[in-house]
Amino acid sequence: MKCGLEIHVQIDTKSKLFCNCSTNYLDAEPNTNVCPVCLGLPGAKPLPPNKKAVEVSIMVAKMLGCKIVVDKDIYFQRKHYDYPDLPSGYQRTSTPIGIDGEFMGIGIHEVHLEEDPGQYNPSFGIVDYNRSGTPLIEIVTKPDIKSPEEAREFLKQLMTLFRYLGCLRGEGTMRADVNISIEYMGVQGNRVEVKNVNSIKGVYKVLKYELIRQKNIIKRGGEVKRETRAFLESQMITKAMRSKETAEDYRYIPDPDIQPIVISEKWVKEIEEKMPETPLAKRKRFVEEYGIDEEDAKVLVSDLDMAEMFENVVKSLGVSKENVDLAVTWIRNELRRSLQYHKVDLYESGVKAEHIVELIKLIKDGVISQKIAKEIVDLLVINRGKKTPKEIVEELGLTVIKDENALVKAVEEAIKNNPKAVEDYLSGKKEALNFLMGQVMRLTRGRAEPKRVIELLKERLDK
Ligand code: ZN
Ligand code: MN
Repeated sequence: MKCGLEIHVQIDTKSKLFCNCSTNYLDAEPNTNVCPVCLGLPGAKPLPPNKKAVEVSIMVAKMLGCKIVVDKDIYFQRKHYDYPDLPSGYQRTSTPIGIDGEFMGIGIHEVHLEEDPGQYNPSFGIVDYNRSGTPLIEIVTKPDIKSPEEAREFLKQLMTLFRYLGCLRGEGTMRADVNISIEYMGVQGNRVEVKNVNSIKGVYKVLKYELIRQKNIIKRGGEVKRETRAFLESQMITKAMRSKETAEDYRYIPDPDIQPIVISEKWVKEIEEKMPETPLAKRKRFVEEYGIDEEDAKVLVSDLDMAEMFENVVKSLGVSKENVDLAVTWIRNELRRSLQYHKVDLYESGVKAEHIVELIKLIKDGVISQKIAKEIVDLLVINRGKKTPKEIVEELGLTVIKDENALVKAVEEAIKNNPKAVEDYLSGKKEALNFLMGQVMRLTRGRAEPKRVIELLKERLDK
C-alpha cells in the first residue's frame, strides 16, 4: 500500500486570514462573525494575509524539516469549485511556504496556507459563514506511508508536535484527504482519494477499508478506478463521490486582489528564535546533556510529551547519572510499556512528571520495591493520573515490609516448602537462589526488599 495524506489543521489566530472578523465560529451565533470579504460579496477587497498565520505556517514547515521558500513571491491562488459553503466560488490557497521536509520517516511534499470555507448542513440546507475565511495550514505528505498503523502513528505524532507548538486551534483536531493506491498480485491499482476524514481513527478505518475493497477488485480481475470517495463515518465505509478532478478543473489563478508574500531569510531567523526545539535537535541534546543512549533518546523524543516529562523528572530529581538512569527506566521502559498495554497516549493518560518524581523518590527511599513500583505505574495509568503514587501506596498498603520478623518468617517458609531448590543451591546451582527469592516475593506479595531477602536466604542456607 502507498498512502499520502493532505492534512488540514486550524491556526489559532484572533482574526481571519483576509479580514478582521473574529475566528470564533464554535460559540458565536451563526453568521455573526462575517463581513463582505469572508462572505465573498462582489467588490469586497481582502486585507493582506494575517501575519501570525504566515508565521505559524513557517514554524510548522520548519518543525517538519522543510526548506522555507524565501525571497520568492508566494501567491494566493483561487481554487474554483462550487459548493454552498464557498460563497465566492473559489478557495484562496497559497503556493508552498515550505517544501521537501521529513517527519517520522515520512517525506513532506509541501506546507501551505489556505482559508477554510463555511459550514454547510445539507440536511437542512443552511450555511453558517462564521468559519469562512479562517486560516488553515495544509501539510501534504509524499506517498511514503505503507500501512494504516503507520498512518495512525504519524498523525498522532504530528498532533503532539502541534500541541507542542501551541499555536493551533482545537488540539488534536484535523481533517485529512487520504490518497491510497495498492499493488496487489502484480497489479498496480489507480490512486483513490478519500475526502474530508476528520479524525485519526477515521484515517485508520478508511485505509483498512480501502485496502480490502481495492484488493477485492483486483482479485476479481477488475480495475481500481481513479476517483474521489467520501467517508461515511457512521458506517465506517467509503463511497464513490465523483471521478477525480484534475488540477485544470480547479482553474487555478493567482488572486489579483492579494499581494504575494515574500519571506525573507531574516524573518525566518526571527521565527526560529521563538520556536520550540525541533525533535531532532532535542534528540541530539538529550544524548549530549544527559549521556543517554541514542536509542533511548530516539524513543523519548518520538513522543514529545514523554520527552518533556523525562526532562522535568530529571531536573526535579537533580541531574546525576543515577537519576537519569532511573528516569529512563521508569519513563522510557515502564511507563511506556504500561501506556502501550492500556492503549493510551501519555497525554491522554493524565500521568504527570510529578507522579514519576514521587514514584522514584519512593523507590530511592526504600518505601516500595521495584516490583510494586511497576504495579503503581499501571495503576497511575488506569486511574488516569487522578491518584498520586503515595496515595496508591497508602490505600493499598504496598509499602516494603519493615518488620524483620515477618520477613524472616516468609524466608523460612520458602526454604521449608522448597527442599529441591535448597538442595540445588547447596550442590552449587546458584540460580536456585533466584527461585527461592521469587517464592519469598510471592509470599510477601512483592513487598519484600530484594537485597534483604537475599541476605536472609544466604544466612540460612549457608549455615
Ligand atoms: Zn470577514
Ligand atoms: Mn486544502
